[in-house]
Amino acid sequence: MAEGRTLFKGANLFDGRNAPTPNMNVVVSGRRIESVSKEVPPTAEGDRVVDLAGRTLMPGMVQGHFHACFGSFGSGAPAPVLGLEAPATFLGMLGAHNARILLNCGFTGAVGSSNPYGLDVSLKEAIAYEFTDGPRLLACTREYVTSGDAADGTNRSWYMELGNTGLIRRVDGADAYRQAAREDFGRGADVVKLSAGPGHGSHPATDFCYLTRAELDAVVGVAHDQGKLVRAHCPSRSAIMECADAGVDIIDHADRMDEACIEAICRAGATVLPSMLWSATFLGLAENWDYAAQPFPIGSGFPEPLEETHKRIRGVREDFEHTCRMLPELVKSGARIVIGDDFGTAIMRHGDYVNELELYVKELGIDAFDVLRWATYNGWDLMGMSDELGSVEAGKLADLVVVDGNPVADISCLKGPLVVMKDGVFVKDQLN
Ligand SMILES: [Zn+2]
Repeated sequence: MAEGRTLFKGANLFDGRNAPTPNMNVVVSGRRIESVSKEVPPTAEGDRVVDLAGRTLMPGMVQGHFHACFGSFGSGAPAPVLGLEAPATFLGMLGAHNARILLNCGFTGAVGSSNPYGLDVSLKEAIAYEFTDGPRLLACTREYVTSGDAADGTNRSWYMELGNTGLIRRVDGADAYRQAAREDFGRGADVVKLSAGPGHGSHPATDFCYLTRAELDAVVGVAHDQGKLVRAHCPSRSAIMECADAGVDIIDHADRMDEACIEAICRAGATVLPSMLWSATFLGLAENWDYAAQPFPIGSGFPEPLEETHKRIRGVREDFEHTCRMLPELVKSGARIVIGDDFGTAIMRHGDYVNELELYVKELGIDAFDVLRWATYNGWDLMGMSDELGSVEAGKLADLVVVDGNPVADISCLKGPLVVMKDGVFVKDQLN
């Protein structure tokens, strides 16, 4: 089939790494970017010219913490705790739905986080077979938890483990971690998710690492031998230190990071996903709740006296303020940071991904240019795909987004992109 080329003309170009340049022209031919130039290149019969008139053209973004099947079941249904109280078949369809939302929001890449029933692997393959639309996905495993973890089904959070294939997989001892990782990689996973410590979002961090060093070494060893990634839920200082030192690739949340943690993260070359929107959203709800009128809906999994709830909320506030102070230090250190948060939990809808970026820029004062790089180049680099994606350069794959405005001046313009192109194909096209 003869493929016409597309010329994006007059773009404010954010190439993924450098400050935006106005009046640039980008030609896409087939799956790839053919040229990026200041001069308007000649076009041929059949080429499509899209005059961007100063709108911003940028690389497709990466959602670094994607729970494919978290989410409320629709307008008429009550929002479940994590969206896991449904049959596997239903969750598969919910995952496909969320993958389409993500793609339409301009995210052409995603790194999965915990999910049940091998759903991420199926979703990745369904996207590859074009059964459904979605981003390029690194499929994650269930969340490996040690017995007695706050999320362990033997505790009160029973809904986390549906049968034997729910959200969590209980693993104890180095050999068991090795076996679990081998099995999941054999079944197509790209990333193992570990629960390394309690806390984050709705609960304060406890300074604790659930896994022994031998367990961490075992799972990281198997993953790295096979060229795979390990990510860990690390709210506490000890979890961050232990995981960074053991070579865990993704430190999720890092609520209680300090200078020593930042040094360990840099030494190890680990990536941090601060995911602060969940904590901010929780606090916004919890600190303004009318407790006299009705019980607070986000509990600890069992009846909790009101004073305990308030203590918990104060603890979350303290952790959040700590992370707010430390994040600029992490930025200064040069550590790789990627965006991604717990969308699909009861108070954060899939589709609101840009709210996380707004938080960093508008509330924490981080440079929008930095945050844009976290969302683009850094994400693709984490996925091991930055040779092909993550920057707008001749020869690279054409995953592109057009937004109405300049995201460096106002990050909010990333909401509702006008154009989303994946692999040279228009997924969303509101300029036609
Ligand atoms: Zn998560």
